[in-house]
Amino acid sequence: FKRYGINRWGSAFIRASNEGHLVFAAPNSPAVDLYALSQELARRGIRTPYVVRFPTMIENQMGTLKDGFAKAIADNSYQGKHIGVYPLKVNQRRSVVDTVVKAREKFNYGLEAGSKPELLLAMAQPPLKGSLLVCNGYKDREFMRMAFHAAELGHHVIIVLESTREVRRYLDVYQEQDWTAKPEVGMRAKLYSRGSGRWQSSGGESSKFGLTTNELLAVVRELTNAGMVEQLSLLHFHIGSQITQIKRIKTAVREGARIYAELQQLAPQLRYLDLGGGIGVDYDGSRTSYPSSANYSLEEYASQVVFEVIEACREVGARQPTLLTESGRVVVANHAVTIADLREVQGELMPVPEPSEEEHRLVHELRSTLESLNIKNVEEYFHDAIDYRDECLQLFSRGYLSLQDRASAEGLFGRIRNKVKQIVESMPHPPEEIVDFLGKAHQKYLVNFSIFQSIPDAWSIDQVFPAAPLSRHGEKPTINAQIVDITCDSDGCVETFAHPDENMPYLPLHERRTADEKYYLGFFMTGAYQDSLANVHNLFARCHEVILRNPDDDMVLPGSERVELGENLTFEIKMGLTCEDVLSAMDFDVERMIRWLRDRHLAVETTLGESWLLGVLQSYPYLSR
Ligand code: PLP
Repeated sequence: FKRYGINRWGSAFIRASNEGHLVFAAPNSPAVDLYALSQELARRGIRTPYVVRFPTMIENQMGTLKDGFAKAIADNSYQGKHIGVYPLKVNQRRSVVDTVVKAREKFNYGLEAGSKPELLLAMAQPPLKGSLLVCNGYKDREFMRMAFHAAELGHHVIIVLESTREVRRYLDVYQEQDWTAKPEVGMRAKLYSRGSGRWQSSGGESSKFGLTTNELLAVVRELTNAGMVEQLSLLHFHIGSQITQIKRIKTAVREGARIYAELQQLAPQLRYLDLGGGIGVDYDGSRTSYPSSANYSLEEYASQVVFEVIEACREVGARQPTLLTESGRVVVANHAVTIADLREVQGELMPVPEPSEEEHRLVHELRSTLESLNIKNVEEYFHDAIDYRDECLQLFSRGYLSLQDRASAEGLFGRIRNKVKQIVESMPHPPEEIVDFLGKAHQKYLVNFSIFQSIPDAWSIDQVFPAAPLSRHGEKPTINAQIVDITCDSDGCVETFAHPDENMPYLPLHERRTADEKYYLGFFMTGAYQDSLANVHNLFARCHEVILRNPDDDMVLPGSERVELGENLTFEIKMGLTCEDVLSAMDFDVERMIRWLRDRHLAVETTLGESWLLGVLQSYPYLSR
């Protein structure tokens, strides 16, 4: 458990069963043995990779955020309230959005949209009293008009102006017709404070977003001149996602709250301070300011924010605002687990050829080293073995060693390494040099998924997604495995893990007992951003979804099926894209393709069967057997 850091990043929702399986225990849901689930899915012909979702994790995070603010507000006798809005960009999957929408009332939540399709999605939800619809992002006239229609439909809409041109657009659309209801406006401020971590360039002087102080004042002037300054109700800032240090948050909130307090003198209706997103998720469990971690909790975030806003308002006697948060990552990251199975081990030892008369002397030396290696001579013999092996490789390159001998040398050296490992493990003070060498020695575990589809941030920004096998916890792993995916891309390799030794690009794994033992790996916390950033490299496309549903949860996705998998466990299963689906998505006319193949098959008389071909088109692009 500790080897994978689960005690640090997953203790709140993962435990090990007596059989050594990982069990996912989402709040208010029955616990799910992930290994047993994977086996059951396999029995039903559903192959990896798939994403398993636990919607109650999302509700739980919404609740924790709300409670954090409720406590901070009570502790500090804060005059304002807290409202959360869910930024759709973080995960627009229907199962996620429906969960947030359903829990909106309980947790006083709204939605945030940053593009036209996101706004369509948000405005098509039933309006809820007291909740907000915040429109961020760059907006053309059409986007503005949509926001006005959303207000007409009964939503409390606030359009956040990202540039001075947008205020003109807002005023033009405002005057275009007699709207039955109109959105309020907010302004996004460009802060000098920067976040910390990977997205720190979203904040600071040179950030792409927000209005400078002069621009903020120009917008207020323009609204005042148009007699519409009372429409200005919100000030927003966002200094980046995954902010790793609480110190940076405090500085930014102080700066933002100061601007808010001053602006309130000019815009009396200003009453919301929108703090954006950015709450960090502790993916690696280190509780530090490492890029995949955060050195604070949700409670600490809420309490620091409230404190800073109180101070800033006190200085100029401003009214304390209603605090808005647009947190997404921390709300949805840990509700999803991506599961894939081990397909092949590369670098497994093959049988060594029998000794022969013609065998090279160095190969013979390696055989004797293997035989006589023991605890007393391990250091010396191991050095010798490295020399023999290196010399063999050099001789082969120069043409003085046969391919057969090279194969024997490789195989013998692998066995020597294994024997050294066994010996060293029994030593109280093993030689450091050998331990280092063995630590680097690894095998490649080929895992049936695409990193580009399932965990794109692991490829693009080395983000940690904690990984662990779903079985054999309690049994010591014997291999440092390099995790490679099935794409034809050397970047398709996971190199960042949450285990305590963050510099080790390998995952300690078990040797399979038999070649058909099912060995599954879980990549945890894949619920934020990965679904929409996913790409179809090599045409490995959208994976199956397996969603745990509680009995009172009657949501149904189009094309999905409800199944009982184990006692009291109801899942909704939505199958991933087929070969046909991905080809069509790339504009191929699959019907025509089939016709061409059929005609060609008839013309040149091949063994291609039509039903076989149709079966392949309907199949999942990932590896089957
Ligand atoms: N709000 C805005 C304006 C954003 O750009 C983002 C994402 O970066 C968010 C909210 C969500 O941030 P997070 O997922 O870090 O909470």
